Amino acid sequence: MDNSDILTRHEDAITEITTDAKFTPWINGKQYLPDQDVTIETIDPAVTLPITAIPACDSGDVDAAVKAAGDAYDREWAATLPAERATMLRKWVNVLRDHEDELTRLECLDTGKPIEQARGEVRAAFDTLDYYASLCRTINGDQIAASEDLHAYTRKEPFGVVGQIIPWNFPIWSLTWKLGPALATGNTSVLKPAQDAPLTAIRATQLSKNIFPDGVINVVPGTGSDVGNALTSHRDVRKVSFTGSRKVGELVMQNAANHIAPVTLELGSKSPFLVFPDANLSKVAQAIADGIYYSSGEICDAFSRTIVHKDICEEFLDAFLAAADEYTCGDPLDEDTTMGPLTTEDQYESVQEYISLGKKEGSNLVYGGGTPAESLEHGWYVEPTVFTDVDNDMRIACEEIFGPVQTIQTFDSYEQGIDLANDTRYGLSAGIGTKDISLAHRAAADLEAGIVYVNDYGPILPEAPYGGFKESGIGNDLGEESLNHYLQTKSVYMNLEDPTR
Ligand code: NDP
Repeated sequence: MDNSDILTRHEDAITEITTDAKFTPWINGKQYLPDQDVTIETIDPAVTLPITAIPACDSGDVDAAVKAAGDAYDREWAATLPAERATMLRKWVNVLRDHEDELTRLECLDTGKPIEQARGEVRAAFDTLDYYASLCRTINGDQIAASEDLHAYTRKEPFGVVGQIIPWNFPIWSLTWKLGPALATGNTSVLKPAQDAPLTAIRATQLSKNIFPDGVINVVPGTGSDVGNALTSHRDVRKVSFTGSRKVGELVMQNAANHIAPVTLELGSKSPFLVFPDANLSKVAQAIADGIYYSSGEICDAFSRTIVHKDICEEFLDAFLAAADEYTCGDPLDEDTTMGPLTTEDQYESVQEYISLGKKEGSNLVYGGGTPAESLEHGWYVEPTVFTDVDNDMRIACEEIFGPVQTIQTFDSYEQGIDLANDTRYGLSAGIGTKDISLAHRAAADLEAGIVYVNDYGPILPEAPYGGFKESGIGNDLGEESLNHYLQTKSVYMNLEDPTR
């Protein structure tokens, strides 16, 4: 397929998904048109053609959305029974399932993800909502042993209106990581999607029409500096949940601190994978390649730092390059494409800068580093890239690149390997390659990370908490545990003596 074929194919696909569609903010159960006449344009990164322009909200529209969410909470949502919420969430999942192809194509075009990956994430999003529907009826307080004339118990209560902000790298999946637990626990939401990939969040919310009461879900597209800032500073937003960069996470926390709203933060990482001498090298190399090249490396838990025992470094490198070679850049609309473009132009430029920096810092570029074939020249593509001779002081080894760039270092002893792995301010995930079960358990305990994979990358199960240690975040998404981030606990003491005497 040559350049003009890809352009034509994407023009057709864009026309198909935008004809008859109207992507606007969603407030109080309906499409909402802000007063200000400002739009944000979302781009198909494979061909850098605009997909559509979306009316952008401002802080006044955030006020309207927070009010709608607060009214919905007070009017009826706070009083819904868990079983009713479960039924609504299930209805929504069923409607979304009927639109799987549409949502998959939207996600593919808006983010540049290969369509097979987009489909997998859309299905995972459905599964996440389904999981939270099943948890609605498990939310209970405790009875507390007191005394004969005293009954003490706890109630788990929602906060009311929660503010949620999601990034552009996993739009529909992260939407459900946020809305699933928030709605299951009885909160209402005002959610800001990323301006670079807002389409599936908007469409999925439109598909909730007439399922939830008006105002329970509100979506306010707009810039982070305007809408994100207004949302996290809003005094009526009683809980904030954010996924994105470490830098913005800090701002979000400061905003929330001004009105003492609790925060859940899922930030970036510089995740290490330790490869021990006994590892099954082809299996482990494949896991690490998936961990850095899936989604073009725009993954918060990307395995971007491979730390290999020096005795097997050469063998490992051969196995890793073979696995990297399996990833080829292509048209995201092709079922057999394994790697698409980066999602944004800023990200493309930033990754290119890191590749130049890696060369300047003295590491050795042994694979990739360029942009692929002529037929893809219109897109923001970066080839799978590998640097060796890296040490932990180099910026490519300690800063989050958020692209398909692998760095390989070596270690000598177990202690040195663990020290190198933990020598980062981040702590989202870590990996271990070994056949020795005792060693795997020991390293899993010693690694400072919220998620540890042994001989694998993924899967991400809705049942398992997902969150970072150190500067990778606070709290977690997913799992039963995330329900607690959307609930506050009330203790009730009840005197059992006859109140009439
Ligand atoms: P950001 O942290 O800037 O964006 C994430 C979300 O936060 C977006 O919805 C963004 O809005 C919003 N936002 C931006 N500024 C503010 C603000 N002042 N107050 C509240 N919300 C705000 O990430 P980027 O998209 O710019 O990506 C840059 C880097 O962040 C990447 O290189 C990567 O390192 C990291 N990242 C990590 C992610 C993760 O999953 N952990 C996800 C995405 C990025 P908008 O973009 O619409 O302006």
